[in-house]
Amino acid sequence: MVVADYSVSVLGKKWLDADVFELACTRPDNFSFIAGQHVTINHQGDEREYTILSPPHADQLLFLVKRINQGRLSNALAELGIGDSLSFSKAKGYLVYRPTDRPVYLVATGVGIAPFVAMAASGLKNFILLHGARELSGLYYRKELMLAASRYIPCLSGALQSEVNLLDLYRGHVTDYIDRNLKPGAYDFYLCGSQAMIHDMTHLLDQHYPGTRIYSEVFN
Ligand SMILES: Cc1cc2nc3c(=O)[nH]c(=O)nc-3n(C[C@H](O)[C@H](O)[C@H](O)COP(=O)(O)OP(=O)(O)OC[C@H]3O[C@@H](n4cnc5c(N)ncnc54)[C@H](O)[C@@H]3O)c2cc1C
Repeated sequence: MVVADYSVSVLGKKWLDADVFELACTRPDNFSFIAGQHVTINHQGDEREYTILSPPHADQLLFLVKRINQGRLSNALAELGIGDSLSFSKAKGYLVYRPTDRPVYLVATGVGIAPFVAMAASGLKNFILLHGARELSGLYYRKELMLAASRYIPCLSGALQSEVNLLDLYRGHVTDYIDRNLKPGAYDFYLCGSQAMIHDMTHLLDQHYPGTRIYSEVFN
């Protein structure tokens, strides 16, 4: 079924690396959402989910899109130019922050950082953020996130091209970091990104951190 509650205009596109770009578009007057939610974009008959990167108070809507090899919609979005139209559904999804007294961990891989960028820009404080990427160039929005998070832990799993001077850098996967460093206790974890990361992290938390609450969204 084709879902298109809103039609907007593309305002611009900014490439963050060879495959990932930010897509800016106008915001419909009556469009509301909570940081962390996504929409279903409908374009040329294809429908896929994309998380809103911008915070709820912003005038424009931003999306962070990874162009997938042979991917139909991500490549079509990469071709959009200023003034082109884009249709999408109402905002939906449950990866939204829930107030808590427990320590809060936000964990992302790749463009799975999008909901956490929106949460940080909407004023969320007192969270520890782990972002897993292969290379330094994949740590999107690290300056903004370093400022917003009480601790920002970049986890790089690929071979580094050059010396990286980054506070709290961990060489390995986000799951390994948690496995080696997280003290026993009950936490609130928000996970977003690859299925492999969410599977492994959920398993680890369920086994070793009983009572921990997990909210997650798989991107692929
Ligand atoms: C709730 C939700 C929110 C999402 N938010 C975002 C977002 O903010 N930004 C974003 O870029 N994506 C996001 N996604 C993923 C997005 O919906 C699409 O699945 C993705 O863009 C691929 O669509 P496509 O049409 O380009 O590829 P398709 O034509 O659907 O797939 C082409 C091929 O690539 C494979 N493939 C699909 N996705 C991936 C992937 N991520 N990595 C590697 N291979 C893949 C498929 O299995 C297939 O073989 C989200 C998904 C969900 C469920």
